[in-house]
Amino acid sequence: MVELTFLGTSHAVPTKDRNQVSILLSYGSENILIDCGEGTQRQFKIAGLNAQKLTKILITHWHGDHILGLPGLLQTLALGNYSKALDIYGPRGTKKYLEAILSMFIFREKIKVDVHEIDEGNFFENKDFFLEAYRMDHVSPCLAYSFVQKPKFRVNMAKLKKEGVEQGPWLKEIQEGKDMKFKNKIISAKKFTSPIPGKKITFILDTAFNKNCVEASKNADIVVGEACFLDERKDLAEERKHLTAKEIATAAKKAGAKRLILLHISQRYSGKEKLVLDEARKTFKNSELAKDFMKIEV
Ligand SMILES: [Zn+2]
Ligand SMILES: [Zn+2]
Repeated sequence: MVELTFLGTSHAVPTKDRNQVSILLSYGSENILIDCGEGTQRQFKIAGLNAQKLTKILITHWHGDHILGLPGLLQTLALGNYSKALDIYGPRGTKKYLEAILSMFIFREKIKVDVHEIDEGNFFENKDFFLEAYRMDHVSPCLAYSFVQKPKFRVNMAKLKKEGVEQGPWLKEIQEGKDMKFKNKIISAKKFTSPIPGKKITFILDTAFNKNCVEASKNADIVVGEACFLDERKDLAEERKHLTAKEIATAAKKAGAKRLILLHISQRYSGKEKLVLDEARKTFKNSELAKDFMKIEV
């Protein structure tokens, strides 16, 4: 099961109810933070989560509202004796910006970070899941990310037993969806298994509408997407390279996504956020508005 915790959901200026953007994706022993707005480490505490368990940080881009929480978080991790190397991924320029942050303060301790500048495509993979990046169209280099769980395969044991195959370690291959050999006979995975598709979660932060918004969201179970403006301010959205609620809903719809969660909500809509939700729902019914500390299981 994949769990999402929304630690911050505001646009550049935080409000009383919304902290700057940060989302935690937890899956098994993986805890992946997407963006790290100011105050994120305190949001962890309020949410009852332990930041020391972080394994990766994915930065969409280097605007303050997405990274101002990094120095404080890294300092706290160091003081807590964070023992592993923390993998930090981000677009072109990430190494330079991170070095600048780490040289700006006197850190009593520094944690070891492995910084990865990425462009697009698959940039991490293990036996359970992979991570993909897509280029966005913002005023600075910006990436969207997808977390994609690999499919699992349900083995039809009853059918296999009829072929004379018993339970045992030799089932490993067929459990991974590969053909297996048993007593010199090839047992076809296709015939004896049914795939259970993995979950896909896509994060689209600051960007103007572009084809990669649809590409990144293809068949996603959840799209977490920015809805910075209403369509009536499309002029401003275009000028500042942000999405309107209608545009992110259009991307989710075109991509065949199942669910859309809106965030990066501007203070201009404080108290009338329903307008943002209603606009998205007109195009994509299964839209929801993120709130700080909201949790979702997929
Ligand atoms: Zn932003
Ligand atoms: Zn931005």
